[in-house]
Amino acid sequence: MTEADEKDGPPVVLVDPIDMSKLDSEFRNEIKSMPYGDELNACFACSTCTAACPIANVWTYKPHQLIRMIILGMREEVLSSDEIWLCLTCFQCQERCPQKVRVTDIFFDCKNLAAEESKIPETIVGLAKTLMEKGQLYEVTADWEREDMDLEPAVPGLSTNEFKDIIKATRTGKIVGGEE
Ligand code: SF4
Ligand code: SF4
Repeated sequence: MTEADEKDGPPVVLVDPIDMSKLDSEFRNEIKSMPYGDELNACFACSTCTAACPIANVWTYKPHQLIRMIILGMREEVLSSDEIWLCLTCFQCQERCPQKVRVTDIFFDCKNLAAEESKIPETIVGLAKTLMEKGQLYEVTADWEREDMDLEPAVPGLSTNEFKDIIKATRTGKIVGGEE
């Protein structure tokens, strides 16, 4: 492409344009009305949260972009994004935000809203099902392996029944179990 062609052609677009007709102006208020949303409007898009995030480099939407998307009303994109579930909840972003925006907690709120609408990644559903069925996320080494390692055949005092009952009685248990 020649320099002249570049001048005549369409402008270079680095990100997809936002479809204004799909914005939900109430989304910002929805998040703001939640216990941790007070400072949402104070965000001035400095990107400090993204600079502090240990995994933002592999996210399509970075933390500061997600916060901006919430403010703009991009409800569908935020609640359907993988990033809110990939968050490590390390609180690095929240600790460093100069405006005291509770970034990590806001992502928790987004996860709760997404879950209410059954927008939960399969991997997360799988983890919740494992918790409900087994009472723990990781399998205890099988008896024969424990024996090989000179361990007691069963883990002393391990009982997951009470935990399983508690999980099943929670909203999470009901959503994952298909009761809601
Ligand atoms: S660090 Fe705080 S003010 Fe800066 S972009 Fe992130 S949320 Fe907004
Ligand atoms: S809490 Fe989540 S968004 Fe914030 S720095 Fe950690 S991984 Fe990144």
